[in-house]
Amino acid sequence: MGKVLIIGAGGVATVAAVKIAKNTDVFTEIMIASRTKAKCDKIVEYIGNPDIKTAQVDADDVEQLKVLFNDYKPELVVNLALPYQDLTIMDACLACGVNYLDTANYEPKDEAHFEYSWQWAYKKRFEDAGLTAILGCGFDPGVSGIFTAYAAKHHFDEIHYLDIVDCNAGNHHKAFATNFNPEINIREITQKGRYYKDGEWVQTEALEIHKPLTYPNIGPRESYLMYHEELESLTKNFPTIRQARFWMTFGEEYLTHLRVIQNIGMARIDEVDYNGQKIVPLQFLKAVLPNPQDLGENYEGETSIGCRIRGIKDGKERTYYVYNNCSHQEAYKETGMQGVSYTTGVPAMIGAMMFFKGLWRKPGVWNVEEFDPDPFMEQLNCQGLPWHEVFDGDLEL
Ligand code: NDP
Repeated sequence: MGKVLIIGAGGVATVAAVKIAKNTDVFTEIMIASRTKAKCDKIVEYIGNPDIKTAQVDADDVEQLKVLFNDYKPELVVNLALPYQDLTIMDACLACGVNYLDTANYEPKDEAHFEYSWQWAYKKRFEDAGLTAILGCGFDPGVSGIFTAYAAKHHFDEIHYLDIVDCNAGNHHKAFATNFNPEINIREITQKGRYYKDGEWVQTEALEIHKPLTYPNIGPRESYLMYHEELESLTKNFPTIRQARFWMTFGEEYLTHLRVIQNIGMARIDEVDYNGQKIVPLQFLKAVLPNPQDLGENYEGETSIGCRIRGIKDGKERTYYVYNNCSHQEAYKETGMQGVSYTTGVPAMIGAMMFFKGLWRKPGVWNVEEFDPDPFMEQLNCQGLPWHEVFDGDLEL
């Protein structure tokens, strides 16, 4: 039924490719293209299906992308490269009549923004071309938005308070490592915090607000308020929301390393001159940190990500907590990657499946919560990310 092109060959792309290859009823032709073709070939070798094609492409270059798209003629591109490539890939999709899906908002290389404005500006062009673009279809953003849409559809007349809670209680036995691309991860965590309250954005210092929250099957973990991109689309798409926040857990050891990295200037994303060569300190740091794709083998414990929601139903106050727990070891056994790549790659595959089944297909540029959440929620249960609900419990928030 579906001819799909995956761009990128990192941890998330590996998981998505493994899952796409398993769902043969939906995905009939698959290609993986990335900057380094050898990495695409390695994924195909892992999957063990020589029918999957691979190609080399520099996704910063629209012309190269157009040649690839015109040659392979995919119906959908699943962009699992880096946020820097979102716009070039969207441009090439428009030029070649290809639909689009990604897991992270576009980011300019020189400044951290974490906002959708650039991609939302493509809405009319995708509409006019009759093409679908699905934005932010990982776990958060992604499932966090689908959980919220599901809650709004089935359990609330009005959502008033939304807290997205993201806990990684895993241990990879390294002194310091990031769970996905280090450059994007450190950019995200070192920016100022921000949350939505009564129609306005309240800014905080980075990781200034924190409190212990209790996660199912894990227990209490110190959780830090930070800005996350789905807050922008969710507060727009669910205007009854009065307050929306995002929390993520970090261990003391991680935060100490992060503080040192910042204090010595290694988190900088501007260019510095080094022996006559221009380097970006954070990109250099990425080159010496552990590769997130290599963490899986010794990773123990699990992640727990969910939405804690307060609002009204039939005139009564209600609380609702919907979450998924994912074991790093189970993820590794199935895909060779750890839980953070797994919880991102599986939703990307399900989003692509929704597209090919015709369930999430409408011309324009959309965030995931603007589609019907039900078939996606159903697939989460079948594809390795089962979810659970708690009604009217104590949300701690
Ligand atoms: P990795 O760094 O492991 O992989 C990125 C891949 O993209 C690499 O294979 C890299 O190639 C390739 N790439 C980078 N630049 C280019 C380019 N110019 N042209 C072609 N290919 C390129 O990242 P992850 O797999 O950890 O993350 C992938 C995406 O998922 C990121 O955008 C990240 O922000 C997002 N993400 C989203 C989450 C969510 O829940 N929504 C959670 C975690 C991640 P090479 O190997 O040659 O460097």
